[in-house]
Order: sequence, then C-alpha cells, then structure tokens
Amino acid sequence: MRLSPTIWKFCAAVAAASLLGACVPGVWLAGFTLRSIHIPLPFTSLARAADLAPDSAPPSTDAPWQPGDSLAVTLPTPAGPRTLTGTLLTDALDGSLLLELADQRLEIVPSTPGRECHALAASTDSRSPRDVGRQILTELPPGFDLVVTKHYVICFDTSRAYAQWCGALFEKLHEAFANFWTQADLVLAEPPHPLIVVIFSDRQRYEAFASRDLGAAADRVVGYYNLLTNRVTTFDLTGSSLLPGHSTTSPGRAGLEILASPEAAGLVATLVHEATHQMAYNAGMHQRLAPVPLWISEGIATYFETPDPGSGRGWRGIGQVNKPRLKKFLATYKPGALTAIIEGDEPFRDATGALDAYAKAWALTAFLVQTRKPALVAYLRTLAAKPPLSDDTPEQRRAEFVAAFGVEPAELEEPLLKFLARWK
Ligand SMILES: [Zn+2]
Repeated sequence: MRLSPTIWKFCAAVAAASLLGACVPGVWLAGFTLRSIHIPLPFTSLARAADLAPDSAPPSTDAPWQPGDSLAVTLPTPAGPRTLTGTLLTDALDGSLLLELADQRLEIVPSTPGRECHALAASTDSRSPRDVGRQILTELPPGFDLVVTKHYVICFDTSRAYAQWCGALFEKLHEAFANFWTQADLVLAEPPHPLIVVIFSDRQRYEAFASRDLGAAADRVVGYYNLLTNRVTTFDLTGSSLLPGHSTTSPGRAGLEILASPEAAGLVATLVHEATHQMAYNAGMHQRLAPVPLWISEGIATYFETPDPGSGRGWRGIGQVNKPRLKKFLATYKPGALTAIIEGDEPFRDATGALDAYAKAWALTAFLVQTRKPALVAYLRTLAAKPPLSDDTPEQRRAEFVAAFGVEPAELEEPLLKFLARWK
C-alpha cells in the first residue's frame, strides 16, 4: 500500500509533537505559563520504499538497503565530501535515507547526485563514554568540558560542581525509573549508549543555541529533550534570572544552595521531566519517532517530575502528589476531558490549553499507575512495539486504550475524580 502524504504529515506531527511535549513542561515560576512549540521535522516527504505499490515507479535508492543496515554515505558539498555513518531506519520515495548516526542523532540524507552509499559490517560502538563526549565537544562552542557518570555524559561550560550535581540528580532518576518499572513487571533495557546532557553556563548562551530547536520560544523553556538529537539541553539554573539572588557569573557551590529555595523546585522538576523523557526513549519504553500518544509520554514525565519545594533537592521522587498539576486539573476539569487527549495530541499543541492537557495527562497517569498498573504496563508494551514512523488514527488510539483498560475513557472520569479527591 502506498502511503499518502497526509499520513507522513501525521507522522511528522507526531514527532514534532513529541518534541514539543517532551521539551516544554513550562516555566513554572512564570505563572505556569507554557508556550506551545512545534519543531518542524522534514519527514513529510518520507515514505518507505517497501510501501510502494507494485506499479509505482521504483525508488531511486542506490541499493536495496534494509532497515538496520550499517551504512557509510558520502555526500558532495561545497566544502568537500561529507561522510555520515549510521544505521538505516527507513528510506523514502525520493531515495532519501533516514539514518541514526553514531552520535545518536537522526538525520535525513537526501538523494543528491554524486551520493555514494556503502554497507558496513555491523559493529557496535566500542568508544568509551568519554570518547563519545569528546566528539560532542567538537560540535559545541569553545569552553565546554565533560563530566562522565555511570549512564550520562554531561557536556558543560559552567562550574564542574553544578554539572556534577546534575549528574547525581540524573543518576538518581535513572535508578528510580528503572526500579519503578521493574517492580511493575515492565522490563526495560539498559540504554545502549551513554545519555547526553548539554548544560550551558547561562541563559543567553543557552538561548542562542536552543533557538535552533525551539525558535523564539527558547526564552520560555529552561530545558528540553530533543528526539532528533536524543539529548537534553539546559542551562545552569543557579544562574537563572527566575530565581531570587541569582548570579550570572559564578554559580559555584554557593549557587547550588539556591536550589534549596521553594522557587527552584519547579526548575528541578523540569530537569527531571526531561531526563524522564530521555530515559523512556532510551530504555525501550518508547521508540523514537513511533506514534507515542502525548498523554502517556507527558503523563509519565509529570508523574516522575514531582516537585518538592523547600526540601533542598527540589525533587520529591516518584508518584507523589504533583500539586501544581492537581490544582490545574481540578480548576479546569470538564466532563469529557479525557477522550480528547486519548484520541489525539492536539490539546497539547494548543497554546492556551496545553497546560490543562499536561494536568490531565498527569492526573490520568497517576490514577492508572496507582489503580490499574498491570493494564497500564500492558498498554506501554503495546506502544513499545510500534515501529518508527508508523501511523495511528484517533480510532486506533481509542481502541488500544479500551483494549488495555476495558472501558471507554469517559467511563474513567468518575473514578478518577474520586481518586484525586483523596489528594485535595
Ligand atoms: Zn514533556
């Protein structure tokens, strides 16, 4: 069956929406504002050659590469030949190739005259995490250094103390995330690569860099996970102008103490939120570019982010009451609220209603985790099996929800409200 362009637009929307959702939990301190952000992905023209109808023109690929093949592709550029090596995810009607590069980035390689492709022997990346980090440093502005922890490579140009503090926070999340789902009988994989985090020293440098991904909204977002690069990017929150007594020049150890302030809890929650997305997409819970409904990916990230004002670490751990989200949900709830986020991602992209959608995603996910965990795990397994760039209709999303939980979304609203009443 030939895929219609609209399907690929949908796929691109899914990917873009995931980036949006994955990246923009909102700047909590600024009155809980959220900017809806759409990062355009150039996938609208992609279609798998294997999906061509028999009478269609053959794709202009160089060879019958199969998804999973290791390829070296050389492109002529004005500056000379550019060679990319990576794993083929899919190819396109126009001969473009979607590769996952060795540095975890996804890149579309256009079918240009003079392009040369060679199959490589399948190999695993034998580089050490520090070598991976050194490679990334070459792409970043001057002045960056590395902190390597058990699972993370942190590239930073702020104080080493802050980078180490972030590394410890991410490792804590990593362990908690893996333990939580293992106990829920959802076996996750160890991420195959070190997880990359980039921390800028201050907001200005971060915004200059992040505007490539976030556009004009970079000034409203304190950190984001980018599905294309597979990286979390943020800046030194101890220099954040959102915090009282901020310093833009020497965060250091004294600056870290700022994180003990109640205002910092939301910022720390944002870091945990993004790290949760990164974990979910690298431990086999979600597949990058697969159609993961935003209500579940954002629901899990908001379930894990739980801010903890005044505790000195800013993060309460997993599954506590997420008070800002609870308050928002109760203030904006209307009957029928769940069906829209089950069937589609549009509520998350609506600039005025996105925060309401996040609150619904948190409320529903918290309710399902605590009252219907086996069904939720079965639902997550269904999602994890979806291939990249596949398509889900609203009807399919709803049918998969009903298949997992045994009821229509609307039927869960009454028990959900009773459940939340305990937390008021
Ligand atoms: Zn998110």
